[in-house]
Amino acid sequence: MSEKLRVTNLVKTFGTNNVLKGINLTVNENEVVVIIGPSGSGKSTLLRALNRLEEPTSGSIVIDNVDIASKGVDIDTVRENIGMVFQHFNLFSNLSVGENIMLAPVELKKETKEQASAQAKKLLKTVGLEEKFDATVQSLSGGQQQRVAIARALAMNPDIMLFDEPTSALDPEMVGDVLAVMKDLAKKGMTMIVVTHEMGFAKEVADRVVFVDDGQILEQGTPDQMFEHPKNERLQDFLNKIL
Ligand code: ADP
Ligand code: MG
Repeated sequence: MSEKLRVTNLVKTFGTNNVLKGINLTVNENEVVVIIGPSGSGKSTLLRALNRLEEPTSGSIVIDNVDIASKGVDIDTVRENIGMVFQHFNLFSNLSVGENIMLAPVELKKETKEQASAQAKKLLKTVGLEEKFDATVQSLSGGQQQRVAIARALAMNPDIMLFDEPTSALDPEMVGDVLAVMKDLAKKGMTMIVVTHEMGFAKEVADRVVFVDDGQILEQGTPDQMFEHPKNERLQDFLNKIL
């Protein structure tokens, strides 16, 4: 197993609010890590720090031997290698589905429109939306939009994918299709960090589950260890509330 990402003593404060209190986390290549924890515990802040949407207050985030938390790092390059999918899909509603997916490869990677559109079509097929290339964003359901958002992130050929509660804003009947796309991605060997409350997904797909509470990792382990034999009392309480 080779190490893909190592977070060391990551601290993030907003004013006097100490949100991440020294996070240490290692993720291996091809590993799927699911992060669980109460609302407000710092899960989104952690993910956002990993692709520098938040600037860490201190600590290091080493990806492929480069500390992306250091000041001199090229943020665009960091973001090219780390795809992120949010709870709210953030698609550009003035662009078609295909154009949404092609935008970053054309603008940032200087791909030709032909290359980018061929790849966009291929990606739409992998998320089960091959007929939607020319569709408007508004014509899609929430679940379809989220699958387009996943395709858009994949268009940059990232080697890590971050998901921040990708199904929380969806109607229940849409959740399965999005999780299926994520499961597929995991099977293909994508390194993934997923914040989710979908415990079925965590049990089935996660190699490791990490419990974050109040800006700290209180326990981590296999899904079986975490769900069947949780040791930490706060984790036990949390699981009792959500399961
Ligand atoms: P979670 O994703 O686990 O619900 P968040 O990372 O979103 O938690 O938030 C953790 C804490 O950080 C909350 O107290 C939130 O108010 C605070 N926070 C998050 N982003 C900001 C920000 N941009 N400015 C100030 N406080 C923030
Ligand atoms: Mg959050």
